[in-house]
Amino acid sequence: MNTILKTSIDKLISHKLLCKEEFVALLNNNSKELRNELAHYAQIAKQKHFGNQIYIRGLIEFTNHCKNDCYYCGIRCSNRQLTRYRLTKENILSCCEEGYSLGFRTFVLQGGEDAYYDDEQMTNIVTSIRNHYPDCAITLSLGERSYESYQKLYNAGANRYLLRHETANSEHYQMLHPTTMTLSNRMDCLNNLKSIGYQVGCGFMVGSPFQTTEMIAEDLLFIQSFKPEMVGIGPYISHKDTPFHDQQNGTLEDTLLLISILRLMRPALLLPATTALGTIASNGREQGILAGANVIMPNLSPIDRREQYSLYDNKIGTGDEAAECIQSLRNHMQNIGHEIVVDRGDYSNLPK
Ligand code: SAM
Repeated sequence: MNTILKTSIDKLISHKLLCKEEFVALLNNNSKELRNELAHYAQIAKQKHFGNQIYIRGLIEFTNHCKNDCYYCGIRCSNRQLTRYRLTKENILSCCEEGYSLGFRTFVLQGGEDAYYDDEQMTNIVTSIRNHYPDCAITLSLGERSYESYQKLYNAGANRYLLRHETANSEHYQMLHPTTMTLSNRMDCLNNLKSIGYQVGCGFMVGSPFQTTEMIAEDLLFIQSFKPEMVGIGPYISHKDTPFHDQQNGTLEDTLLLISILRLMRPALLLPATTALGTIASNGREQGILAGANVIMPNLSPIDRREQYSLYDNKIGTGDEAAECIQSLRNHMQNIGHEIVVDRGDYSNLPK
């Protein structure tokens, strides 16, 4: 490895930040040697904060209706091939009941932007989960809503919110979304969530159409300044019924490199090995953990709905991805020296 890259790695470890050109150089020189080196230091950083513990989140994909028309996403409103569904509060509570008995202490409610779940519906659902499971964290991922709406949901008992910024470059944002959606609104939402007191997660797709390494460097600089508690990244995977159906997928290698960089930038970060990573490679999530991830989000949605939450082609929903197969996931994590814990797994800046 050349000395410039070595100096950048040392700087990343000691300063937890690089300038744009240094990030670009690392990303442009993604070799096995570089990935192994960064993964080694990322594991040390992770170990300091979390030991060998892996947090699990039970993912409940409660609606695939969406008013948005993001060009990359399979549940976009223009996709007429999809069978749409909504879960009732009772459906959602029974997912939580199953999850709780399997050892989940965080429930993630994720869905398209579905006006059916207005503030009244949504606060009613969150209040019920909060009353039934006072010891659990509730994470929401419902897209863009007003400040007042986020506040009501927080008051009802939600603790965390995932809203990927998708790209920190506004021109790129407009290549991925129709003009009804803007990066500035997305950023306003992220800032609002933070000021209300949520633990906030942002993130982006690796290898999304038209993305350059400079843009990824801008994402990293944004993450450094925003200081989220969580970051969700996964490879872009094309969906056959979207305008981007013939675009190339993101790669495992780029995603792994970025996981290690993020761990070194923010050692206490909650960083999932995502479903998309497990979709592009059969052991993708294990590789994500070994690169520095410390969260896995198995699917708790009703089995007969999983296929319909079709963000991209061949999305996994059974096997280790499924919450009901948690024992198998536990074994796989043990085989790579990690342990799944029954814990809310909140963000904590203090090394253990
Ligand atoms: N509506 C909420 C929102 O906008 O945040 C949550 C649901 S949205 C479908 C969740 C995430 O899925 C998006 O933030 C996006 O990054 C990811 N996603 C959508 N289509 C994808 C694709 N084709 N490949 C990989 N990830 C994708």
